[in-house]
Amino acid sequence: MSKYPVEQFIDILTKEQVYLDEPMSKHTTFRIGGKADALTVVSDFRELRAVLWFAQNYGIPYSVIGNGSNLLVSDEGVEGVVVMLKCDDYEAAPEILEDGRGIFRVPAGASLSSFAKHAAKLGYSGTEFAAGIPGSVGGAVAMNAGAYDGEIKDIIVSASVMDGKLNRKSVSRDDLELGYRSSSVLTYGYTVLEAEFILERGNAEASLEKISELNAQRRKKQPLEYPSAGSTFKRPDGFFAGKLIEDAGLAGFTVGGAQVSEKHCGFIVNRSGATAKDVYKLINIIQQRVYEQFGVNLEPEVRLLGDFSYAD
Ligand SMILES: Cc1cc2nc3c(=O)[nH]c(=O)nc-3n(C[C@H](O)[C@H](O)[C@H](O)COP(=O)(O)OP(=O)(O)OC[C@H]3O[C@@H](n4cnc5c(N)ncnc54)[C@H](O)[C@@H]3O)c2cc1C
Repeated sequence: MSKYPVEQFIDILTKEQVYLDEPMSKHTTFRIGGKADALTVVSDFRELRAVLWFAQNYGIPYSVIGNGSNLLVSDEGVEGVVVMLKCDDYEAAPEILEDGRGIFRVPAGASLSSFAKHAAKLGYSGTEFAAGIPGSVGGAVAMNAGAYDGEIKDIIVSASVMDGKLNRKSVSRDDLELGYRSSSVLTYGYTVLEAEFILERGNAEASLEKISELNAQRRKKQPLEYPSAGSTFKRPDGFFAGKLIEDAGLAGFTVGGAQVSEKHCGFIVNRSGATAKDVYKLINIIQQRVYEQFGVNLEPEVRLLGDFSYAD
């Protein structure tokens, strides 16, 4: 039983959008995480504002997530309400500019990968890098997701966000302050509602071929056969996290059910029934060993949700 009136979210949304005592392991690609007092699934500004208004007015802690593909959620769960932005795949036609470029306005809860493939199929180029990233569009903007020499920063024009006072505003590309896996969205706690992308006219066949090529590379190099949250650490200046971890002799190193992937040491994988504590401890061991051997500080890219003081 939650100490917060979370069951009242059912009156604000519909019964189908509210999950009480919901295991977060069902909503993270790590397949790890204790129960949230409530998980609410919202798709637009109106629903999001209603949930956050109630949470703010009744003192209910809240956190916003997308597809849970960059999250480590505590085994002890999450107090209050987790608000997941999720909506159908984006399949709309773009606005076409005189010079042929297309403007795509994509809701935050849409899948980044399906947007990337949709744009490619329509003959626009620029999203190929994103087709294998398993996040939502909102999560990708927050993280400035990137791969294979491309990043969200290269294609975004602006984002529509909700600020902490529940006002909607448009934030330009510059004001999004998109850096390496960082943004003003994370700094100021905005919630992304929609992102506007501008894409060059290209060639559908070439873009789709590029996508299959990059996805084949991913399958070859990344341990996609196990649950994970992608790269565990950010790339330190001048180094590759995976290489440092391998050189520290940690390939295959295991804590409980969590393991440093032997296929790609930059990934921690959930080999079998890993807990958040296993992953958390493994992160600490890796950081310590890499620092001792190479003097490099590895900063986690994976974001923690919930209280981890029990794991220290
Ligand atoms: C197999 C695998 C491969 C991956 N490869 C890559 C890769 O190549 N490149 C890369 O960059 N990442 C990669 N990732 C990590 C992850 O997919 C990205 O970070 C992605 O952008 C996270 O999006 P999400 O919707 O899942 O966000 P979540 O994991 O749900 O959340 C991540 C952070 O974003 C915030 N957030 C989510 N949605 C919103 C929103 N609407 N408004 C404000 N904040 C929000 C959350 O609060 C949280 O802080 C990979 C992950 C996996 C599992």
